[in-house]
Amino acid sequence: MTDAAIVGTGPNGLAAAVTLARAGLEVVLHEQADTPGGGLRSTSLFDSAVVHDICSAVHPMAGASAFFRSFDLPARGVRLLQPDIPYAHALPDGHAAAAWRSITRTAEHLGADGPRWTRLLGPLAERSTAVVDLLLSDQRSLPRDLRVPALLAPRILAHATNRTPFTTAEARALLTGVAAHAVGKLPSMASAAVALLLAHTAHSSGWPLPEGGSIRIADALIADITAHGGTLHTSHHVKDLAELGDVPLVLLDVSPREFLTIAGDRLPPAYRRRLRRYRYGPGAAKADFLVSEPIPWTNPLLRQAGTVHLGGPHTDIIGQENATAAGRQVPDPFTLVVDPAVTDPTRASGHKRPVWAYAHVPNGDTRDPVGMIRARIEAYAPGFTDTITASRGLSAAQYETYNPNYVGGDIASGALTLRQSLARPTPRRDPYTTPLRGVYLCSASTPPGPSVHGMCGHLAALSALRRHHGIRTSPDLSPTQGQEHI
Ligand SMILES: Cc1cc2nc3c(=O)[nH]c(=O)nc-3n(C[C@H](O)[C@H](O)[C@H](O)COP(=O)(O)OP(=O)(O)OC[C@H]3O[C@@H](n4cnc5c(N)ncnc54)[C@H](O)[C@@H]3O)c2cc1C
Repeated sequence: MTDAAIVGTGPNGLAAAVTLARAGLEVVLHEQADTPGGGLRSTSLFDSAVVHDICSAVHPMAGASAFFRSFDLPARGVRLLQPDIPYAHALPDGHAAAAWRSITRTAEHLGADGPRWTRLLGPLAERSTAVVDLLLSDQRSLPRDLRVPALLAPRILAHATNRTPFTTAEARALLTGVAAHAVGKLPSMASAAVALLLAHTAHSSGWPLPEGGSIRIADALIADITAHGGTLHTSHHVKDLAELGDVPLVLLDVSPREFLTIAGDRLPPAYRRRLRRYRYGPGAAKADFLVSEPIPWTNPLLRQAGTVHLGGPHTDIIGQENATAAGRQVPDPFTLVVDPAVTDPTRASGHKRPVWAYAHVPNGDTRDPVGMIRARIEAYAPGFTDTITASRGLSAAQYETYNPNYVGGDIASGALTLRQSLARPTPRRDPYTTPLRGVYLCSASTPPGPSVHGMCGHLAALSALRRHHGIRTSPDLSPTQGQEHI
């Protein structure tokens, strides 16, 4: 008999399935697309020898989150390749700023702001595991190390109120570029927390790329699920809970909007109203390019970087992000660029290599972003256009068709406001539970929110195990079995 049905096979659905299967439950997964993986899918778009990541490409949390630390991707053969420069920021007139793995080297290149960079991020990098565990928690549990909230609170407050300690254009742009990963208004509490989380991991566990593409992470999760008796059905868009049959546990890796449809009238009116009030943020519009050469960035630092941020000086980034969050189209939106073969040479095949890039645009934007993103890269890498042999654009509106969790192209599955960071998707003591017995939400629309960390799925599964099976210990998720306390 099936013990648990999981709808959606993004990293959170897969993490939930791993956790339940390791506890001995028989799990069945349902995925609307014809392949599993959600935000972890990679595929060849133009040339069978070149793989493109359709959504996520860079994985600061795949080695850092509590779920992935236990699951241990490297022990399963997934090589997490580390660029020496996790991220860099292009500035006008050929200037650039870079964050190396080494905080000392980063500080050396930031002039007067070097010591300030070290003071801001050094203490977090020294306690990185505790910082990551606090920021990627259910936002309800007490932190194990009380020094960490004491370190984080003043830093978050300072950045949320624009009291930056930095004076150089380089340091200001470098940190604001990371804050823009929150895809929303700048500055804000949520973007400050995102900035500190991502910026400090660059100097601790890094911003790795899985060798061969993001799909390798999904492959490893699926291999573990099937090895523990789980089964997977693709091309099944679940539109009603009744389709899942009489199953005691249901975990939904879906958006609140999709949950409203799937659960229908079973949900009490007050809860339906709260779900309807859930807000979605700006969208992402993506361009994939097949190119003949590495991106010819003018500044050599950008040629070594895993991720390149294009947004200009920090005041420009703030302007672009705030206009986008307010629903206005800007000609030069904040753009993230990855040339994966810089970090993972296996991604290039002779003179063919992928380029991954996406821009922040208003929710629901229908523009094909290819021309806009090409021009944005060309401005900092003259000659880029001549290297392109094929390209494909996905507008924000098309992302929603591709994956219903990205409502209006919102890849965070819900705006990262302070309210929605703490009460995601609705204010509840246990954010994964719903008014329906046995039915849980486990997508990035629950805490701790977006990114490939598996924590929403893992924490939802632990909640279900506690409530329905009285299991208070987390199953061992590593390739070797055992028990550890939650
Ligand atoms: C362009 C882009 C770039 C990104 N870059 C990064 C990055 O570099 N690093 C990073 O960490 N994160 C990145 N992200 C974000 C990351 O991909 C998401 O935060 C993460 O995938 C969320 O995981 P999830 O399991 O909650 O949902 P998803 O990964 O969205 O998976 C949800 C799954 O559920 C399925 N589904 C939904 N409704 C139903 C239904 N009714 N029936 C059946 N199946 C259903 C969907 O098809 C999908 O497969 C990026 C996302 C995008 C789109």
